Order: sequence, then structure tokens, then C-alpha cells
Amino acid sequence: MCGIVGAVAERNIANILLEGLKRLEYRGYDSAGLTVIRDGELHRERQVGKVQALVNAVAINPEFFDGHIGIAHTRWATHGEPAQRNAHPHVSGKIAVVHNGIVENYAELKEELIAKGYVFTSQTDTEVVAHLIHDIYKKTPDLLEAVRTIIPLLHGAFALGIVHVDCLMSSLLYV
Ligand code: GLU
Repeated sequence: MCGIVGAVAERNIANILLEGLKRLEYRGYDSAGLTVIRDGELHRERQVGKVQALVNAVAINPEFFDGHIGIAHTRWATHGEPAQRNAHPHVSGKIAVVHNGIVENYAELKEELIAKGYVFTSQTDTEVVAHLIHDIYKKTPDLLEAVRTIIPLLHGAFALGIVHVDCLMSSLLYV
């Protein structure tokens, strides 16, 4: 079962996110990842295997992950093999999403998004969530409203953590 951690703080939160993932390791997982908003960009790292592999990868360039808002995830694959490209967070433009559970109707949503020009980089059901929010947000730039709009489109049982680079006051949403 996967784990989701989110953090907003005045101090740098990369270590808070990593510590949170370590505390969730007992739940079981196959890969781990995080994203931190820094200088108006999403800085993301993902690794297959133990949270320690993610800790080591972040430690190579720790300054990339200096930031005050972020989300992190341990994945238990349901859609797509355990692989770096399938690890969370998944990104669409300035939006990043971590996800626990299953989007049962992801295949039809994916087809609609591909028809609109979205390019998928993973095999997951999660990536449709990121692109759906992106699609709504570009017409209505209100993150909470965009999330409220897409939730009824998703079938299944799930939890989400979402950040948007441009919505610093409301950029950590759990659904
Ligand atoms: N269904 C998602 C995936 O396969 C999330 C799995 C999970 O809960 O970790 O990436």
C-alpha cells in the first residue's frame, strides 16, 4: 500500500518529506519520489527501490530540492511495472500529482486526453489525473475548482496530493 506525504513550511521541506516517507516504509512499496517547488519550478526525483535510494539521489544536488512546498510518495504499482518513469509524482506542466489507489476508468480518460494532444510518459492510471487537472486549469486557472471539476470524472477509490507552481497559497490539496 502506498504512502503520501505533503509539507508546507517556512524552512526547507525536502528532509521532512524524506523522513515522512521513511516512516511509511512499513506499508510496503516498490519505488519512491518527491517534488519540491523551487524558484517557480517543480524539482522532481524518483527512484525504484528503497526510500534510501531516493535520499541518496537527492543528496547529489540537495540545493535543487531547497523549497517550502512539496509532495512525496511511496508507490505500490497497480498500473505499470515498478520503474522510474512510473514512479510518482506525475507532472503535467506546472502541476504535480501523487496518488494512492486506482482510477478504474483511466483508459477511456487517457484516450480522450491523447486526442487533445497530451503525451503520456508513464503506464500509470495516475498520469491521467495530472493531465485532466492541467486541461481544466488552462481554461479556469483556479486549482481547487479544477480539482473539484475532475473528481467526479474519476471512478474508483483513491487519495491524491496535488501541487501547482503558481498557486502557492493553496498548492497542497488532498482529496
Ligand atoms: N495506481 C497507481 C500506480 O500504479 C498508484 C498505486 C499506489 O497506490 O501506489 O501508480
